[in-house]
Amino acid sequence: MPELPDVEVYREALRRRIVGRRLARVELVNPFVLRTAVPPIESVVDRQVRAIRRLGKRIVITLDDALHIVIHLMIAGRLRWLDPQKKPPGRITLAVLHFDDGGRIALTEAGTKRRASLHLVHGDEALAAFDMGGLEVEAAGFDAFERRLQSENHTLKRALTDPRLFSGIGNAYSDEILHRAKLSPLALTSKLDAAQRRRLHAATVEVLREWTARLLAQAGDAFPDKVTAFRPEMAVHGRYGQPCPVCGAKVQRIVYAENECNYCAVCQTNGVLLADRALSRLLHASWPRSIDG
Ligand SMILES: [Zn+2]
Repeated sequence: MPELPDVEVYREALRRRIVGRRLARVELVNPFVLRTAVPPIESVVDRQVRAIRRLGKRIVITLDDALHIVIHLMIAGRLRWLDPQKKPPGRITLAVLHFDDGGRIALTEAGTKRRASLHLVHGDEALAAFDMGGLEVEAAGFDAFERRLQSENHTLKRALTDPRLFSGIGNAYSDEILHRAKLSPLALTSKLDAAQRRRLHAATVEVLREWTARLLAQAGDAFPDKVTAFRPEMAVHGRYGQPCPVCGAKVQRIVYAENECNYCAVCQTNGVLLADRALSRLLHASWPRSIDG
C-alpha cells in the first residue's frame, strides 16, 4: 500500500503537472470506483485545480469552489500519467482524469479486489470527514507524539499503523521505523521508557523524511511509476531471510493473516525469536486494526 513517502511523491508529481490546469472531465471506466453521488461527477468540468494535498494516505485534488476529489489507493491502486496517444492500461484502469491541455491521469488497480476509491465532495467540512485524525509526526514534535503513543496501550506495530493515531504509516514503514529504533514490534506502548519513546519518535521522523527524499530523488521529473512497498534499500521490510544491514543476522518474520511483519532479532528483540503460535493470541487483539488509513 502506498504510504506517506509514496503519496508525497505522487503529490509532488501531480502538483507540477496539474495545478492551474482545468479538468475537462472524469471518465469512469469502472463506475464502482466513484463512491459518492452528490455532487455529481459532472460538476468537476471546467474547474481549475487549486491544490494537491495528502490526507493520511489519501490524495486530495482541490478544485475551484471547494470541490475536492479524494483518492484512496488502498493496496493495489496506482496513478499513471498518460503520455499523448497512450491508451490507458486495459482492465486495470478504473478512471481517467482529462485536463484541458490534453494531460491525463489514470487511476489503476491491479488484481481483482476493487478497493481503491474516488470520492467527490463539496466544502472543507465534507473533506474533513476523511481525516482519520492521525498525527503528522514530522510536523508535530515529540510531546504530541508521546501523548499519542501513550493514549492507548497497544503493540508498537499496531500503534504506528493505526491511522487514528499516526498519519500515513503502514506495514512497510512501520517495520523500517521499528528496526531503526531498535524496538520490538510487539513491545507495548505502555512499557516503553522515556529513552525508548525518544528513540521511536526520532526513528519515525528520520525514516519518513529519508524515504520521502529518496523517492523524490528517484522519481526526478518523471511521474512515479514504480510505487511498491518492497525496495532494495529497505533494512528489514520484505527482506525475510536476508542479512540485517546493521548486524548481519537474518531478518525474521511474523506471519499473521494477510500480513507479514519483518524484524531483526539481534537489533530489536535481544535475540528472541517471536514465535508465530504464541503471537497469534496476542496479535488477535493487537495486529494493525485497519488498512483503511
Ligand atoms: Zn540487526
